[in-house]
Order: sequence, then C-alpha cells, then structure tokens
Amino acid sequence: MVFTWIESSLAQLAELRGRLPHALLVRGPDGVGQFELAMAFAQFVLCEQPASDGRYCQRCAACTWFEQGSHPDFRLLQPERLMGEDDDEGEATADPKKKSDQIKIAQVRDLQRFLSVGTHRAGFRVIVVRPADAMNIPTQNALLKSLEEPPPETLFLLVTSSPHKLLPTIRSRCQSIAVGRPDPDQAAQWLESQNIDNPMRLLALAGGAPLRALLLNESEPARRRLLEQLNDPGFDLIAASESCLAVEPAVAVGWLQRWAYDLLSQRLAGLSRYHLTPDQGIPAVAARCDPAKAASFLRMLAKANSLAQHPLNPRLFFEDILIQYRALIADG
Ligand SMILES: [Zn+2]
Repeated sequence: MVFTWIESSLAQLAELRGRLPHALLVRGPDGVGQFELAMAFAQFVLCEQPASDGRYCQRCAACTWFEQGSHPDFRLLQPERLMGEDDDEGEATADPKKKSDQIKIAQVRDLQRFLSVGTHRAGFRVIVVRPADAMNIPTQNALLKSLEEPPPETLFLLVTSSPHKLLPTIRSRCQSIAVGRPDPDQAAQWLESQNIDNPMRLLALAGGAPLRALLLNESEPARRRLLEQLNDPGFDLIAASESCLAVEPAVAVGWLQRWAYDLLSQRLAGLSRYHLTPDQGIPAVAARCDPAKAASFLRMLAKANSLAQHPLNPRLFFEDILIQYRALIADG
C-alpha cells in the first residue's frame, strides 16, 4: 500500500533514477511510513515498466514476484520478530516474545553471498534493512563491508527512526532521505478512509504519525476495558490482566503508569493530566489511595517499565502489578 502522504517523497526519489547512490538512509519518526516508502521505492527500482513519477506498474513479472515476496534480486533484512507478521499461523504468534528483535550477523553474512553472485534479471538488486538500528555494532561493521564495496547496480535502503544508533561510517555511506509527519488534514483523511472515528484526537495522541494512530486505535478497546477494571476496587484480576495481555507489555505498562500518575496528581494537586473526562473516574479512585503508597506504586511501575520489553512470564508480570494495585485502592 502506498500511503497518500508518501507519494510526493516517492516521486522525489524517482528523480534519482539513473543516478542512484549505493545506499539511502530513509529516516523519520515511528509511524510515518518510512518502511512502506522504502518498499515502494524498491519495487519501483525493480519494476520493468515503471512510470516516471515513482509508480511501479503492478503488472510486470518483477512486480508480481515482488508482491509475492519472491523477487530473486531483492532481499529484506529484518529481525525474526518482524518476519511473517502478516500471516496468522498459530505457531508463529504463540510466543512472539521469544523471537529476536535484532538483525543477526548471520543474516548479514547470508546477504554477502547474495551480493557475490550476478543478478537474475540483469537489472538492479535491492536490499531493504528494517530497522537498520536493530543491528548491533559488530553486525553494522559486517554490513559496512558491503556498503563500502558494493557490486555495481546495487541499492541499499536502510530504514530507521533512530539514525543516531548507526555507526557514523554507515551514515556517511548513505544519502539521507527524511520522511516527515504528514499534513494533519491529509493524515486525518487517510485515517477516515480506514474507518477511524475521531481521527484528529487519535492523531494528536500519536504525535501526528498516522500509522501509530492506527495502532492506538486497534488497542483502544483493551485500554477502555482496563480503565473500567481499574475503577472497580473489586475488579477481577484475571480479566484485568487479560486486558493488559491484549497489547505489547510496554504499552500496557504505559497505560498503568498514566493511570497511577493521575491518581497521585489528583490526590496531591486536584487535577489529572491524562484522563480528563469525568466518566474515567480518577477523582473517586484517587480518594481511596494513600498518596505515599500511590507514589511507591508509580515508582514500581517505572521499574517494571524497564523490564516490560521481555517479561519472562507476561501473565504473572501483570498479575503481580495488579495485586499491588488492588492493595493500593483497597485501603479506602
Ligand atoms: Zn512493474
């Protein structure tokens, strides 16, 4: 899918055709579509009947292979965690936490073999690295060798929202392309076309990044369920931890942190920062909390947040937090 707001970036990139650098660094904040831009441009470069404005034809053999994920002159380098995220095989989703979120050095070595043989279609060969900052320093150094002496007609597209995590020697090999936040009206229009109600509110929550807004929207029902449960001193522990398990652990810890922050702020200063509508119940729950205990609960959450990337057992992790929360609001 080519998002409306990256079409102009794609057209700009298309002007590079004929004088393509070996490597482009496609950077921008999370959720603005830099990966989708890189993939669209990769398909354009490989397309055998491209239009001049960055559009690929979607009909030629190259486009067909690309869309099936089988173009012989294309490689996508990404962490195991992101592989197969579109297919719904139960096996694959059973334990996503165990999958690596790093691009491994072995993957870069495989790539070197791919680069050492000729291209299949006598055109370009394209490699997308996503996100490039998922490579540790030794892996980046391994990739650097290929960036320094690339075979002819090879294009690397390094995608990242954290370019500072890349070696300066990698950055200096790449021509940098910035993808910015789209115009809010254009982004809201696109969100509406995805059946999102109230796109402006979500877009504000997502810091103007439309794909983040879409993700927030998907997790909104779970967040609402959790807030209802947090409002109820007799809430069901299992059901509340289910609400947390519906999203990435770090996201659910963030919800709990904002909730606890507001309880303390309401207790000490009489105002909430995140939960503004009266039906969200902060004042009534805050009245039940001892401020010192609320503060220590908040500190515990900050610690939990640093573990939330990889809790050993997410269910126990959240049940433990929620038991402490129940003690906090049970005092009355
Ligand atoms: Zn094509």
